[in-house]
Amino acid sequence: MKYLFTILSAFWLTSTLFCQYPGWQQKVNYKMDVNVNTELHQYAGEMEVRYYNNSPDDLDKVFLYAFFNAFQPGSMMDVRSRTISDPDSRVGSRIESLPLDEQGWIKDIELSLNGVPCKVTIEETIIVAELPDTIKAGKHGVFTMKWNAQVPRQIRRSGWMNKEGIELSMTQWYPKFCEYDHEGWHSHPYIGREFHGIWGNYDVTIHLPPGYQVAATGTMTSTIEESVETGVWHFNAEKVIDFAWVADKNFITESIEVDENLTMNFVRTPNSDYNDQWTELPRFAVQGMRFLNDFVGRYPYPQYTVAQGGDGGMEYPMMTLVTANRSLPSLVGVTIHEMAHSWFQAVVATNEALYEWMDEGFTSWIESECLAVISPSEMTKPRAGGNHAYAYYGYIKQALSGNEEALSTHADHYTTNRAYGVAAYSKGEVLVEQLGAIIGDEMRNEAMKEYFKVWSFKHPGPTDFKRIMEKASGIELDWYFDYFVNTTHTIDYKISGVDHIKNSDMLNVSLERVGTMPMPQDLRVTYKDGSTSEYHIPLVIMRGNRELMEGEMLGEDWPWTNPNYSISIPTNGRRVVNVELDPNLLQADTDRENNLVEFKGLKKVQFISE
Ligand SMILES: [Zn+2]
Repeated sequence: MKYLFTILSAFWLTSTLFCQYPGWQQKVNYKMDVNVNTELHQYAGEMEVRYYNNSPDDLDKVFLYAFFNAFQPGSMMDVRSRTISDPDSRVGSRIESLPLDEQGWIKDIELSLNGVPCKVTIEETIIVAELPDTIKAGKHGVFTMKWNAQVPRQIRRSGWMNKEGIELSMTQWYPKFCEYDHEGWHSHPYIGREFHGIWGNYDVTIHLPPGYQVAATGTMTSTIEESVETGVWHFNAEKVIDFAWVADKNFITESIEVDENLTMNFVRTPNSDYNDQWTELPRFAVQGMRFLNDFVGRYPYPQYTVAQGGDGGMEYPMMTLVTANRSLPSLVGVTIHEMAHSWFQAVVATNEALYEWMDEGFTSWIESECLAVISPSEMTKPRAGGNHAYAYYGYIKQALSGNEEALSTHADHYTTNRAYGVAAYSKGEVLVEQLGAIIGDEMRNEAMKEYFKVWSFKHPGPTDFKRIMEKASGIELDWYFDYFVNTTHTIDYKISGVDHIKNSDMLNVSLERVGTMPMPQDLRVTYKDGSTSEYHIPLVIMRGNRELMEGEMLGEDWPWTNPNYSISIPTNGRRVVNVELDPNLLQADTDRENNLVEFKGLKKVQFISE
């Protein structure tokens, strides 16, 4: 406990020392007590919440989420799911057909601020509370709240009786304060997608009938045996943006010490369909935790729990809920992805509704790096083009389909679920990996560590990330983020001509920007004796260039306005075998066919004239 305090203090201090704009974060401490009726799938809750208004503004209202109200016929989430062209198959029209006792609700809300009642309006999934008195800038107020809730039958993420028979998956389950940050209020209605939250401490007591086992965000203050017997489960969590829990009578728990400050728990029901996979899982998960600690920065909490529950895989602070009945590669993959969200969601918490690519994309990027290291070879399919090849493939396919939507779209507002998924996960992952083509892989990796350190326990946006990458590399990147985030312009460069001047040792190579997004280019000439000439060609607008590899030469800067570029390369009498653009496959070039010119008859001059 003491050590935890030290770690958390260190993070607070780090956060303060590196404090950059916006410089303030709200803080909300919850002390919560809930009584669960497992027969009716209902609970009664009460809480005392200390709301610290660290903003420069006086607040005369607050918003809270009532996520369970989404699980009623006719809700925004229901209508969205029934009208979008490619609905999530887990939802479809299931909400519309929920009988009364399987719907979700949060109601009977009594909310007071400093003992004086607030005027409360429930607008479906958002509770609007007008305050009896403002909470002044820099001051705090104490809210007290009582409410009743019915847990929906499990449809999306939360609910009772998931498809694998887990009794209670309790996520997005309590009235949760919406974030107010430097970008204003974030009270978007819940339609089944992304979250944004305030850090705070949670002190949560859950009363269940005896016999249940509970896994949750935070650390327990009693033993599992004691709590199973009494039905009282008490958890503390410090500096988290949410609190989730899961309960079932048949859970078994395996705990592993990663090191003296971190325990990992694996919680699931026994079943011969997946016992073997879950016996193997801890080994990979612990390796993954160690890799990510090294690769990004230290995981700051005392425990991490992988629990069976929910409807797939979903990340929460200090825990994930995943479905259990999976092949080992799928189980390891989903666990590493959700665990990787501990870095990019739980600690560096971008507003994932607005900047989904900084949440899912960054997470997918470190997930791919991690899986490439920890997965046994028999688990991974061959990945031509590196650890991120699936992301490149998915993004390019979507871009060429004509249905791509810009990364800057709000997560809820993409026209299709597919456009959201490819943008947030695949293009977001490509955005990070492709930075290697501009600032270099090592520089990018180091800068990601710096980003994690500087923006821990804050809500960075795109510019904050861009500035970290710029400061580390000394290269201007506004153009890169603008094109890749705000537009659907694509990258396609080609070798338009190779001219081997007769009786000379010079090779003239002509390049052309075919796509509408500019990028620096790498060019390689390969000779018959196996040697190569390598050139890096930066853009003028970068105002610099990445560190050159050994033997690599620097070409003239290419002005982005110019469709054509030519370079003369001395061959020193060597016979040219081929000339290739982007030979290390770093770029999401939508047409690779025109990146390579091969010389079959070695002496013959070949000119591509298409
Ligand atoms: Zn994710």
